[in-house]
Amino acid sequence: MHTVTLIPGDGIGPSIAEVAVNVIKASGADIEWELQEAGLPAIDKYKDPLPQHVLDSITKNKVALKGPLTTPVGSGFRSVNVALRKEFDLYANIRPARSFEGVKSRYSGIDLVIVRENTEEFYAGIEHYIDPARSAAETIGIVTRSGSERILKYAYEYARTHGRKKVTTVHKANILKYTGGLFLDVAREMGKKYPDLQSEDRIVDNMAMQMVVNPYQFDVIVTTNLFGDILSDLASGLVGGLGLAPGGNIGYSVAIFEAVHGSAPDIAGMNIANPAALVLGGVMMLRHLGEDAAADRIEKAVEQVIRAGRDVTRDLNPTSPVGTREMGEAIVRAMEKS
Ligand code: NAD
Repeated sequence: MHTVTLIPGDGIGPSIAEVAVNVIKASGADIEWELQEAGLPAIDKYKDPLPQHVLDSITKNKVALKGPLTTPVGSGFRSVNVALRKEFDLYANIRPARSFEGVKSRYSGIDLVIVRENTEEFYAGIEHYIDPARSAAETIGIVTRSGSERILKYAYEYARTHGRKKVTTVHKANILKYTGGLFLDVAREMGKKYPDLQSEDRIVDNMAMQMVVNPYQFDVIVTTNLFGDILSDLASGLVGGLGLAPGGNIGYSVAIFEAVHGSAPDIAGMNIANPAALVLGGVMMLRHLGEDAAADRIEKAVEQVIRAGRDVTRDLNPTSPVGTREMGEAIVRAMEKS
């Protein structure tokens, strides 16, 4: 049995987390959930978006499944997501984007993985207004050699162990000559250590265009924090939207799995959010725990339900959708039948 910290999150979080828990239970994996609140519900209850007992639970269990957490835009408390990544040094953010049969999207047959550096650069939280009149603001992005080495090594090792062929490093070293330059230097050194893999690098603006025009040329993409955040949403758009994109935040001892998308306040409480991204985050979590058979069962059931296209949410079937809960029930039924 595995004990895992469950943070349902806010917005659409609790409804998709409920589905993820039910689906994982039906997969046969023996998980005991330790329920913890963070973000807006924790502020209401504990006056703290990330209470110490939540951190203690994750430290103890080493693995968490987390629904999305709202971060106020422009002001207010700092991102709990970023705080968790910093607290547990979750330096590698793995965001796969792959096509599902039955989804109407611009492309089919896409299978790429974004490996995003998760702790440095513009998300380090070193920022301020320069004066009380707010006449200018400053955000400092720090990129270190050791931080670059560990994420690039992770990306190359990931590529090797997952049978991938190519690693593309994305940067802006033409303009950001120091932070981008350092990351690119380390990438080129790292590439030489993996002669069995093809290595290349792209400037981020060109990369955004290339991903839209011909995404098939990419396999594993590794990049710094901000670019990785943006390009992973772009990648999810190529395969049918945020409702299908999971992510894992991996450190040396702790790993937190989630959906790439946010709390979607525009559709919260309506039972219309697609639960698949968080369910697939659960699949990544089960693989991390060594529960491959349960992970395979869930993945097959999700594929089957999406391919059939009947019991899916509005983003996948706008004409006759079912609700979040009902899509979850269909995934459970598909597992029971197989
Ligand atoms: P969002 O990802 O929440 O939503 C973007 C769009 O995608 C919205 O139109 C939404 O309705 C749709 N969408 C998202 N998830 C969906 C799903 N499962 N099914 C169907 N449609 C879905 O992005 P946003 O609106 O920019 O951000 C809302 C909040 O979420 C912000 O506070 C942001 O900081 C936070 N956020 C949290 C995380 C996280 O917890 N890891 C990630 C991204 C954003």
